[in-house]
Amino acid sequence: MANPKLKSVSKPSQNSNVIVRRKPAAVKTAYSLAEREEIFRRFSIQRPEPRGELEHTNPFTLVVAVALSAQATDAGVNKATRALFKVADTPQKMLDLGEERLRGYIRTIGLYRNKAKNVIALSQMLVDEFAGKVPETREELVRLPGVGRKTANVVLSMAFGQATMAVDTHIFRIANRIKLAPGKTPDEVEEHLMKVVPKHYLYHAHHWLILHGRYTCKARRPECERCVIADICKSPEKSCDVPAPLVELPPQVIGEAVE
Ligand code: SF4
Repeated sequence: MANPKLKSVSKPSQNSNVIVRRKPAAVKTAYSLAEREEIFRRFSIQRPEPRGELEHTNPFTLVVAVALSAQATDAGVNKATRALFKVADTPQKMLDLGEERLRGYIRTIGLYRNKAKNVIALSQMLVDEFAGKVPETREELVRLPGVGRKTANVVLSMAFGQATMAVDTHIFRIANRIKLAPGKTPDEVEEHLMKVVPKHYLYHAHHWLILHGRYTCKARRPECERCVIADICKSPEKSCDVPAPLVELPPQVIGEAVE
């Protein structure tokens, strides 16, 4: 007699050629397409040409700056790299400088010992495997020591003009706080944002969201009275329903950003 406690389990397919297709994740957002269009239209008027605030002179110095910026402010990284990039703006020059002297340039940045190790190791790999050039694909970039998916996305966007969504602390917070693209992990938020941001706004979207988070929708207390999307926002934390006047903001001051 069959044991009633045992559930029948279907045998896995023996055919290794069967392709199991993952159902694409549903788009998660609290906003209609028209509302999303309007949010990014307003951001585009406020900041027509948003820029990242990490100073760099070429793709290599951008990789280094982003790698140094983990758990540090852009302003703090810029202070250290201004002098560093004058002497080491290529992988070979970084190797010539050496780990010990590199540490001297970046010792004001958190975790500098580990970061110095990574910068030397990634410079070595660039020289050995990429002829001293920064690769232009995510798969190659994430092979570099100290370079994760977020860093790769920043480099692909800022150095090579690709529409990517580098989810940092500000973007992760905003996506969840205002329910634009909720997700439990940065990767989940990235996947949702890539779907919910209207395509024609995608290239600048990550900078708009970072700057909105850094200067308006701040971590401790969002400044809703200064927010241009206060009437559309669906955050339970918002304290004002009236949008701030929609005007172009003065040019960003590189290097003076605060967290
Ligand atoms: S209204 Fe407030 S909570 Fe909503 S996006 Fe603006 S600053 Fe953030």
